[in-house]
Amino acid sequence: MASNSAQTPAILKVVLDTRLRQAFDYLPPAGYAGPSVAPGMRVRVPLGHRRAIGFVAALARTSDLPRARLKAALEVLDEAPLWDAPTFGLLTWAASYYHHPLGEVLAAAVPAGIRAGAAAVSEITVWQLTEAGFACRPGRLGRRQAELFERLRDAPLAAHEIGSLGLTEALRGLARRGLVESFGQPEPPPPSGPAAQPAPRLTDAQQTACSAVAGSLGRFECWLLRGVTGSGKTEVYLDLIQRVLARGGSALVLVPEIALTPQLVSRFRNRLPVPVVALHSSMTDAERLRAWRAARTGAAPVVIGTRSAAFTPLPAPGIVVVDEEHDPSYKQQEGFRYSARDLAVLRAQRLGIPVVLGSATPSLESLANVESGRYRRLDLPERAGRAGKPRVAVVDLRHHAARDGLAQPVLAAIERHLADRGQVLVYLNRRGYAPTLYCTVCGWIAPCSSCDARLTVHLKRARLVCHHCGADEPMPFGCPKCGGEVRPVGQGTERVAEALAEVFPHAPLVRIDRDVIRRRGDIEKALARVASGEARILLGTQMLTKGHDYPDVTLVAILNADQGLFGADFRASERLAQQIVQVAGRAGRGDRPGEVLIQSAFPENPLLTSLVSEGYEGFALRALAERRAAGWPPYSRLALLRADGPDRGEVFDFLARALEARAGLSPDDVQLLGPAPAAMERRAGRCRAQLLVESATRPALQSFLDRWLPRVESLRAPRRLRWSMDVDPIEVD
Ligand code: ADP
Ligand code: ZN
Ligand code: ZN
Repeated sequence: MASNSAQTPAILKVVLDTRLRQAFDYLPPAGYAGPSVAPGMRVRVPLGHRRAIGFVAALARTSDLPRARLKAALEVLDEAPLWDAPTFGLLTWAASYYHHPLGEVLAAAVPAGIRAGAAAVSEITVWQLTEAGFACRPGRLGRRQAELFERLRDAPLAAHEIGSLGLTEALRGLARRGLVESFGQPEPPPPSGPAAQPAPRLTDAQQTACSAVAGSLGRFECWLLRGVTGSGKTEVYLDLIQRVLARGGSALVLVPEIALTPQLVSRFRNRLPVPVVALHSSMTDAERLRAWRAARTGAAPVVIGTRSAAFTPLPAPGIVVVDEEHDPSYKQQEGFRYSARDLAVLRAQRLGIPVVLGSATPSLESLANVESGRYRRLDLPERAGRAGKPRVAVVDLRHHAARDGLAQPVLAAIERHLADRGQVLVYLNRRGYAPTLYCTVCGWIAPCSSCDARLTVHLKRARLVCHHCGADEPMPFGCPKCGGEVRPVGQGTERVAEALAEVFPHAPLVRIDRDVIRRRGDIEKALARVASGEARILLGTQMLTKGHDYPDVTLVAILNADQGLFGADFRASERLAQQIVQVAGRAGRGDRPGEVLIQSAFPENPLLTSLVSEGYEGFALRALAERRAAGWPPYSRLALLRADGPDRGEVFDFLARALEARAGLSPDDVQLLGPAPAAMERRAGRCRAQLLVESATRPALQSFLDRWLPRVESLRAPRRLRWSMDVDPIEVD
């Protein structure tokens, strides 16, 4: 065939779901006559002796290979790109910003079914009578066939409906006689909720927030909506989504993994007059595929999902909401290490629509973005029904020795609140019975054999467990070294539950942590005991701070604030403040003032005192000033080259060579720190270390990474060594 340039098929640049960064060149399938192939469509391609599904990243006129050597794709799987152009553009941008292979980025952005080749648009098979069928007299048919025949004369039926009537066999009979025929029809939309609940009358503050954001519909604006839990943020989201729906648009709502409960989804379904789909990791692949398709076609104009839902295609996106925007779970910690919050903001920017970031405890990044004028801030004051701010006080552990983790003033307060028929919430972010098992004779401490960590005592199960690698072994009766007596030291929730039960035998206690809440529905059961008032004491880890409301809690006791004050990570104090405020925010609903007690051995710590006296705002100002002085984000930009492997020498050697590889790039505006061991150097039998890359500006950091990473990639690394690049890491220890 003569090649003439107008007819020369374009070359498809195809990326695959692998660590390989390069795109592979293919020709369109021989004789392909479908819709023109475009970036964002999937193709099936030959790859050595295998076949693989890849994404078309771009089209080109030329290839480095001679055309004759190019293979043809086997099949084009989509009739249209999976994403709109701005969102596809965001994904390709994200691949370069996070320095992650585009094939893996695109694969991470779709449900497993789409990766495996399932159709992006699904059809169902519908059966109807043929002309011959309409002309036929059913008298000659058997009973079942006649029944189906009568039904089909009324209306066509979907194959699955015929199946659930038990008439599939009859269908085959009618088909053999040529009386019925089938055709394809788009999958019907997911059912809408009852949308029966009326919206409450918005408060003035809610109304102000809604009008401000509504004024930005149709263009990009990033709003930071600050309001404590229960202040009515979700009502603001619902109102804005209604306005977007009224304009024919769709909405994307992101929530942290743990906050996406069936209750939250039904709250949206009960209020919005359209199908609402959820997307999260505990759904089955089939459920996710169905939800993703419904979102993409617009059958479900509201999507509420966790991290990876940020990339869900929507036909007419009108608003993006990121609830609890400070939550660290928005950052993916392996593979494609992206921040779903940051990408949601950038997606809204590319789409030209507003985005609302909601939180009671905004991240310091977002507060800095407000300060610099990039984001605009809206505030919801505490709920009108609340009996004022809770009283917050620090219990000085230097003066009040704690017994089983509970200092005397805390015990006294618990007693007082219980006597007043209040509920008490005790927060301890450490599960298990005790964090260490200690020999009273020789000082031996039970270590994890694979990590630089101690084993946690789980007394009831009589096991020692490593909370870092999962190692799990029987608890010894005596010291394995000297045979001396061993004793659990320190407190976890299991132990504090035991101590509370001893001191307050008549106050039923509910414990919430990962050891007792294991299956779907467990947390609902536990919370129901709290809501009914049957349980008087609620004890738990961070698990109890997320999105739940405890209206009758009048006392909150935080047992181990000090963990966060001296964490190795520069974000440790921010996390601590957020946790304290999130927990404290549960005290004193209704007509009773709340009380918050924070146990600390360092009551004069400036971050703690500013948090107690000025609240989260005061803390955030001080913390931002510290960050600025120390040159930490948001006043600088970081990237982390992490490496781990079974051999310490290999790991450090690799990082040392990576450091050398910057030679000649001479960046004055970029500093490399390390190689340094991770705070926990050995975990699960692997040595972990890192190189920190720091720069005052994003462009300088990016331009350095662009030039440096190809060199790092070309370094010879032992097979068993793993390394990764984390841009904007949220943990740098
Ligand atoms: P947040 O999302 O900030 O935690 P919600 O929107 O869930 O707050 O509101 C907390 C509770 O207050 C909910 O039960 C909600 O129905 C109720 N609520 C919120 N706004 C109003 C209002 N304007 N009038 C009456 N009740 C409201
Ligand atoms: Zn011993
Ligand atoms: Zn371990």
